[in-house]
Amino acid sequence: MDTGAGCIFCEILAGRAPASFVAKTPTVSAFMDINPVTPGHLLVVSNDHFVGLTDTPPEVMAEIDELGQRCAAALRASEIRTEGINLFLADGRAALQEVFHVHLHVLPRYAGDGFRISADRASVPSRDDLDHSAAALREALPDRLSGY
Ligand code: AMP
Ligand code: ZN
Repeated sequence: MDTGAGCIFCEILAGRAPASFVAKTPTVSAFMDINPVTPGHLLVVSNDHFVGLTDTPPEVMAEIDELGQRCAAALRASEIRTEGINLFLADGRAALQEVFHVHLHVLPRYAGDGFRISADRASVPSRDDLDHSAAALREALPDRLSGY
């Protein structure tokens, strides 16, 4: 297993720091968030140390996603109050990433849970602006996807 020096999630995965595990596969693990937004808030992490979306191999991301989906189903089937689920991944400091070991938040939600996402959506771009952004992204995709 690749470990990141000083990385708290690597310490947890190596058994040197405590955690409440939900699941572990050869590639990914899930454990409870120590400071939950709502009861049942858990994290799905890679077992190897990757930082975020740029360096995590797509097949590892796929396994993070799959375990996140399974944990979401487990939350709904459990006694933990779960009327809805948010999945959240912070990639980079500007996106509020605080632990630089890739992880997916699985957040149980219920009416009146107090969780808020606030965003200023004041701008209404023109179709030209949207087309321009889409063209820039098509150009930047590493393997140009056909059909567009
Ligand atoms: P992020 O802002 O996406 O990097 O979120 C990091 C998350 O890791 C936060 O929700 C923290 O509460 C959580 N966290 C930090 N340290 C631990 C720990 N030792 N065990 C479990 N969760 C942790
Ligand atoms: Zn790590």
